[in-house]
Amino acid sequence: MEKEKEFAKDLIEFIHRSPSAFHASKNIEEILVKEGFKKLELQEKWNLEKEGKYYTLKNNSAIIAFEIGKGEIEEDGFKLIGAHTDAPTFKIKPNPEIDVEKKYLKLNTEVYGGPILNTWFDRPLSIAGRVNIKSENLFKPKEMLIDMEKAIMIIPNLAIHMNREINKGVEINPQKDTLPLVSNINDKFEKEGFLLKKLAEKLNIQVEEILDFELFLYGLEKGSLVGLNEEFISVGKLDDLAMVHAGLKGLIDSELGKATKLLVCFDNEEVGSGTKQGAASPMLRTVLERIAIGMEKDREDYYRALSKSFLISADQAHALHPNNLDEQDPTNRPVINGGPAIKSAANQAYTTDSFSSAFYESICKSIDVPVQKFVNRSDKRGGSTIGPISSSQLDIASVDIGNPILAMHSIRELGGVLDHYYVYKTFKEFYRL
Ligand SMILES: [Zn+2]
Repeated sequence: MEKEKEFAKDLIEFIHRSPSAFHASKNIEEILVKEGFKKLELQEKWNLEKEGKYYTLKNNSAIIAFEIGKGEIEEDGFKLIGAHTDAPTFKIKPNPEIDVEKKYLKLNTEVYGGPILNTWFDRPLSIAGRVNIKSENLFKPKEMLIDMEKAIMIIPNLAIHMNREINKGVEINPQKDTLPLVSNINDKFEKEGFLLKKLAEKLNIQVEEILDFELFLYGLEKGSLVGLNEEFISVGKLDDLAMVHAGLKGLIDSELGKATKLLVCFDNEEVGSGTKQGAASPMLRTVLERIAIGMEKDREDYYRALSKSFLISADQAHALHPNNLDEQDPTNRPVINGGPAIKSAANQAYTTDSFSSAFYESICKSIDVPVQKFVNRSDKRGGSTIGPISSSQLDIASVDIGNPILAMHSIRELGGVLDHYYVYKTFKEFYRL
């Protein structure tokens, strides 16, 4: 299991360097550049070449990478893998400083997506995101990434002696119970603009230069392998940076065939995808059409290319929970390290149909990767993902898959070392075909 463990450790490093969607996109970009991918600016004309490797960023939080195939797009289509860069967390509000009886400083935050709130208590936390600062051009404030890197805050639990019911399930109010404690206050402490001052210090700029920021909390503790045989991966953001990582490695490591290979990493999946960099936007559709134009194809060629294309929508699935056996569907019970799961739902919350499922399953079988099926219990609503949302924008055959994990949306989720390698192998094979 050595190579699988190495690959899982590489994922843990990747996640550690990706404390926000902006940082994840930056990391992906750095890896792509090392592999010879060239950056395309959205505002410039694209002249593309066969076998050329390119990428483009949207909002610096979403990224699309592609390699033009050896064939013709209208004959050989696009091979797409989709995943997302964002994860549930807390976002810092404007003017966030709150003083508590002139003794403590805490910050005002709001919830981003659907975190399991109680997993955020009593953990060393830090802040990462972007800061926009003044520039010569009013239309284009400059942008700087920031990662405070240190344990600068914590959300303390209330002692059990003051909260006797805590182990029976207590409601957590996000305006009251989850505001992080940052500091003691003394007589000389200036609460006003505290955060801006810290940001300016870290970025080596003047406070007055800062116009705005998008900052998110993250758990500072690094992920690790756990289990008697180190068969599990314990780390936050497996949903969905594990799929981003496997997709990226699959893209880079696969041989180039006739089809054009793409990896699309959307942002804002956890808040409904309805942003310009989300799956419900024309972002992907526009890039595909621009690839066609850049290859001097016409609109008819573009639509022919779509009809020959396939999307793997890659987001995580739920594994059988060892202490909660009844929560899983009675006949489809994927487990960790049993292989990737094909996700389907009668209400089409997943895009999978029997055709697309059969295609993915045959990829798995052809390279000896075990495959499982995931469906929700009939009395549970379950989640959705980028697959069905992209389908509303783009007419492409698609399957929803993911690795079965536990504790989805916890600050530390639990996945499988073997599964992560399995899914990478299927992506590499999909791109190669
Ligand atoms: Zn997800």
